[in-house]
Amino acid sequence: MDQDTSVSTGAAAAPGSRHVVVVGAGISGLTAAYELRCRGLSVTVLEASERVGGKIASTDLGGVRVDTGAESILVRRPEARTLIEELGIGADLTYPEEGLSAQVYSRGALRPLPAGQVMGVPARLLPLARSGIVSPRGVVRAAVERLRWFSAVDRDQSVGDFVAHRMGSEVVSRLVEPLLGGVYAGRAADLSLDATVPQLADGARAGHSAAASARAALRARAAASGPVFASLRGGVGHLVATLENTLRSDPEVRLETGATVRELRRQEGRWTLTVGSAAAAHQVDADGVILACPAIPAARLLADQDPAAAQILSGIPTASMAVVSLAFPRSALPRRHRASGFLVPPAEGRTIKAATFSSRKWPWLAAELDTVAGNDEPLELVRCSVGRLGEEAVLQRPDGELVAAAVDDLRELCGLDAVPVDSHVTRWGGALPQYNVGHLERVREIRARLRKHPALGACGASYDGVGIAACVADARTTAQEVAGRCPTGTTTGANESPSATTGRNT
Ligand SMILES: Cc1cc2nc3c(=O)[nH]c(=O)nc-3n(C[C@H](O)[C@H](O)[C@H](O)COP(=O)(O)OP(=O)(O)OC[C@H]3O[C@@H](n4cnc5c(N)ncnc54)[C@H](O)[C@@H]3O)c2cc1C
Repeated sequence: MDQDTSVSTGAAAAPGSRHVVVVGAGISGLTAAYELRCRGLSVTVLEASERVGGKIASTDLGGVRVDTGAESILVRRPEARTLIEELGIGADLTYPEEGLSAQVYSRGALRPLPAGQVMGVPARLLPLARSGIVSPRGVVRAAVERLRWFSAVDRDQSVGDFVAHRMGSEVVSRLVEPLLGGVYAGRAADLSLDATVPQLADGARAGHSAAASARAALRARAAASGPVFASLRGGVGHLVATLENTLRSDPEVRLETGATVRELRRQEGRWTLTVGSAAAAHQVDADGVILACPAIPAARLLADQDPAAAQILSGIPTASMAVVSLAFPRSALPRRHRASGFLVPPAEGRTIKAATFSSRKWPWLAAELDTVAGNDEPLELVRCSVGRLGEEAVLQRPDGELVAAAVDDLRELCGLDAVPVDSHVTRWGGALPQYNVGHLERVREIRARLRKHPALGACGASYDGVGIAACVADARTTAQEVAGRCPTGTTTGANESPSATTGRNT
């Protein structure tokens, strides 16, 4: 972008202080910047798009602000909650309505997710049989694993291979696929057991059955108390807005949007980043750099500095998806649905892969809808997810067609027979990194390589977890590590010299 218009609030860093550039202002980049400030370093955050937040975004629907990317935060692990409390918005944490079940549309009906499962792997057979999600034959096949002996396997394998080998392919296609698809939009046959369901991986390595592995994981989970998921009043976007405000009000932080980083070089004992379009590039110098952007742009930036790391990064595939947000008159949503939503296995051949009854799930949202003037009748908000790895064609349909397909599926799958009074489609191209078999080993290799460069780190959804809590944890650890390896300041914050060179296209 043009150099003059890219400059946002925030004073230049004090001469001599250590200065780190963070590339990307999703939750990972913003958190890394926050952590660097906690450690006294000055920070420049460079974000390619015109807004911060990355996969955390929102829109107006039915008169209220709703999340169109991430909509819930795992709070059973502490990192995201701790950050929220540090930012002073802990009082805004809010939890899903109690007593709502999660369902799966399978074999012609909505059916309850069996109690006691780990990413769709049932710990016990009775709830599986009662749910009707798999056929009676599928239940018998799942039961057979307890009669079999499995050898210990000392390597990563796909979730699909592990579960199908033990419990049969129907448990995979009807239970594991929709749950994994909800998080990764990926396929069980590709996704790594070690990386995506580590709770089961120990059992797999020890040669235990899938059900026994799930029971062990649930026992470990039982030790943790308190709610599993939370949101914030105003939505997850409230976290990003608060982080942004915190950073922007800090004179030692410079936060630029519309600032695509195109090149990263090491010269004269410091890092130099080329920012902006080839026609109007400028350079920013730094003592340290954190790449908090997705794997593909990170790979491009590392292509010269570390071709091997770049090659591994460029091999991490991504899945695209879309979120179709719909507002219906409240009377249209059958009250008998005491569910927060439902998942749809790919085997059902539907357009939507999940539906969340957002205003039923989140009481704060229902309360906000009640305060909206001008709606003839109170509204219910429903969020449908569309698209898995390999289903890109469906995402090429125009917005109107995606809305119509989602409405059709809702009518046929859950009896929601109404015309939406408002709708919004958000497309998330290449948004979800796929942790395929061997992912943990690849991440170890990338990190080991980056550690060989002075004060260079990478964090974000491509590495140790796609969820917000995992991204927050990774960002803080990476920022601590880069701060620890950052030499005494050789730069004076953002050196805004227009670049004589043309930046490489990214
Ligand atoms: C539809 C959807 C729903 C989700 N739901 C949930 C949920 O409910 N709960 C949950 O925990 N997780 C959820 N996730 C996952 C989670 O939201 C993301 O994994 C997480 O927000 C990623 O954060 P990040 O900062 O690592 O990456 P991103 O959000 O991708 O941010 C990276 C940033 O880097 C910028 N960038 C890229 N290249 C450059 C460059 N060259 N120069 C400068 N900037 C650059 C991008 O513009 C982007 O803003 C969901 C994801 C999606 C897509």
